[in-house]
Amino acid sequence: MSAEKTAAEIVQAYDGRPIRVMEVCGTHTHAIFEHGIRNMLPDNIQLISGPGCPVCVTETGFIDEAVWLALEKNVTITTFGDLVRIPGTEMSLAGARAKGAKIRIVYSPLDAVNYASEHPETNVVFLSVGFETTVPAACLAVKRAMELGIRNFSLLTANKTMDRAYRVLKGSADAFLYPGHVSAVTGMKIYEELKNEGISGVVCGFTAGEILTALAMIVKKIGSGEPFAENAYTRVVTEEGMPIGRKLIEEIMEPCEAAWRGIGVIEGSGLKLREKYAACDARLVYDMPEIQGRPNPACRCGDVLMGRIKPYECPLFGKVCTTEHPVGACMVSSEGTCSAYYKYNI
Ligand code: SF4
Repeated sequence: MSAEKTAAEIVQAYDGRPIRVMEVCGTHTHAIFEHGIRNMLPDNIQLISGPGCPVCVTETGFIDEAVWLALEKNVTITTFGDLVRIPGTEMSLAGARAKGAKIRIVYSPLDAVNYASEHPETNVVFLSVGFETTVPAACLAVKRAMELGIRNFSLLTANKTMDRAYRVLKGSADAFLYPGHVSAVTGMKIYEELKNEGISGVVCGFTAGEILTALAMIVKKIGSGEPFAENAYTRVVTEEGMPIGRKLIEEIMEPCEAAWRGIGVIEGSGLKLREKYAACDARLVYDMPEIQGRPNPACRCGDVLMGRIKPYECPLFGKVCTTEHPVGACMVSSEGTCSAYYKYNI
């Protein structure tokens, strides 16, 4: 029998100072619950769920913009399913659909381009909400639409990049579990830069073994007191990441300030279409006025996303707010922290 300890044994044997580890990715949050990992941890390792779900960190005003386009400009909104039930100030997109708005679920931005091509009689807007993982596909859709001369297709963007968010979150945790799929695009360079600024973390996959391995790497490194940037997901994440995807983003989009639910505005953390692609920018195409959303003041999504409270500390959790009748984005999204706590009955 091997004398080498398993990752689980290393984590369970940790007897150092209390540490807080933030899993910034909603898929990690759900996987951690699914595999019962929280229950395996000693008391001195605290897992905090962070803001790593693009739908959850999208401000209420974005939903209001989409509703405005659907109801005032009569466009066909194309989107992934989660966004349809996110509450806006007055209504969700599902509510707008009940009032006659055209809302269509698609499985990729290219589906939306194809729909626009096949339906020249309607204007089609795709809701581009994502991190580095999904933004290249939205960029590809814009490129395809421009190449094919499809003029009835545009994007409403609320894209974000994670690196500046880590800097804002510095101090919220001793180490991050970095998201595997975002890291597949970014590569390891951004984490080396974060390390140089005193921010530690390990890139983490999504199986129980990969999560425990990442946690074991954290507990082994944390004692030194030195910042670290490690990769526990080497079967997918390489040093250089995906240069083709980053080049595509660079070509089509440029950084802009972005409002994060719970965090606030972070300069340079958003991605909007470059001027060259203005013909595909829904805000410009439809001369959209400034729309300020008003989130439900009773919803504590912002505090949940910052790791300040657990979902069950929100007075609405499980009573007024459930996955069947969600009040906030964190309960709607399949990657949301509140939906994870509710689904796994925490
Ligand atoms: S339980 Fe519902 S209302 Fe409370 S923070 Fe979560 S999503 Fe918002």
